[in-house]
Amino acid sequence: MDREAIVALATPPIRSALLIVRSSGAGVLSILVDLLGRPSVRSIEERSSFVGLLHDEEGRPIDRVVALAYPSGKSSTGEESVEIIAHGNPVIGEGIVKAFLAKGARMARPGEFTLRSFLNGKMSLVEAEAVNALIGASSQEGASLSLMALEGAASRKTESALQEVASMLAAVETSIDFPEYRDLEEDLLGKIQREAPSVQRILDELVRQGRAATALIKGVDVAIVGLPNVGKSSLLNAFLGQERAIVTDIPGTTRDVVTGDVVYKGIPIRFYDTAGMREAKDPVERKGIALGEGAIRKADVVLVVSDIRDGAEPPLPEGVRCPIIHVKNKADLWEGGSEGVLASAIKGEVGEVLEAIVSALSLSAVSLDSPALVSERQLDLVSRASCALKEAESLSREMAPLSLVAPSLQEAYALLKEVLGASASSDIEDEIFSRFCVGK
Ligand code: GDP
Repeated sequence: MDREAIVALATPPIRSALLIVRSSGAGVLSILVDLLGRPSVRSIEERSSFVGLLHDEEGRPIDRVVALAYPSGKSSTGEESVEIIAHGNPVIGEGIVKAFLAKGARMARPGEFTLRSFLNGKMSLVEAEAVNALIGASSQEGASLSLMALEGAASRKTESALQEVASMLAAVETSIDFPEYRDLEEDLLGKIQREAPSVQRILDELVRQGRAATALIKGVDVAIVGLPNVGKSSLLNAFLGQERAIVTDIPGTTRDVVTGDVVYKGIPIRFYDTAGMREAKDPVERKGIALGEGAIRKADVVLVVSDIRDGAEPPLPEGVRCPIIHVKNKADLWEGGSEGVLASAIKGEVGEVLEAIVSALSLSAVSLDSPALVSERQLDLVSRASCALKEAESLSREMAPLSLVAPSLQEAYALLKEVLGASASSDIEDEIFSRFCVGK
């Protein structure tokens, strides 16, 4: 039985060539019959398209539209669904949504269409979360990794790890339940010692690949810090290949954090040019410095820039945990040899720095052909499952009784189930789907 009808604008409320309104749930085909005046919509057995004048609830024409109609079981939500493609004026979109509301649909909540696909078994939770990642991706590569997760590759890998854990767990539980087979206990512990590490390797690989993939999808934040005049703003400009930051030789002119986005080897990188890190007397400049510290704490990588001629660096605030790259700038003014990452912002020579960022985050290891889990929630669950398997393995090495090994396997099993959403509580569902935009 389809759930109550929901409706939302699926495209942004701006003027554009076309817009799309989505509606799904019990009775939406009848609503379409009313609004479009096409009784034949009611009897469709496959996805069908209709062209015609769509009317509001009082019979006034809103727009000439293309309506895609899906019978129950044949749509992405699994329910009776309608997608209306109209001319891209927000007033038209609003009018269509209102007409559906007047006919009994209610506004969809964020992510509710995808939630229904999940609830109706049309996609796993991994795939549902990948939809969000796909929409949020800021590079082609990030989008293609999300799409791969959406297409189910990462779910299948997780699913096969789950099956292997299930088979170990089933053997252990059977043996606990039927003590007459106790002599098999040693064999069973041997099996766990052999199999747990191989599943664990699969899970660790998923986490490694997933962490890199999420960096690709979300992008990485890089803070540029250093004493005044070492060339931070010039570096930012060199990265961007264009003038955006204010470059000057009067110390302390960068009072705000200036940001710039580049995509390097498919990795979206956002640079934050922080104000010179030194004691400032001027309150405006002091504010800039405080902002700079905020950028450092949020950063995935910090570039500490110095002038190659004296190598002087500012002290960093405490508690910086991300990788730090020491960059020696103004290499064009230096004759001798030098170790480390060199740059000449003025000549636009910053390739070493970009490479250092990629390798600091192990991003070059990301293979765009390997399936990756693309949400923090899943990655956390998978790495916990890997720890639980490690526990099971070491217990079995110590020849612990099966009743002590079983809980670790059960934990790994439950965690992997949760990745796929099989046992997701409704709290988790709410948490996940509320991060979607309305209309998804
Ligand atoms: P910031 O205060 O650290 O942001 O430094 P700026 O980017 O404003 O640069 C300070 C001065 O150093 C300016 O006169 C720049 O032209 C100069 N500068 C920056 N990078 C280089 C470089 O790679 N080589 C040389 N020769 N000068 C540079």
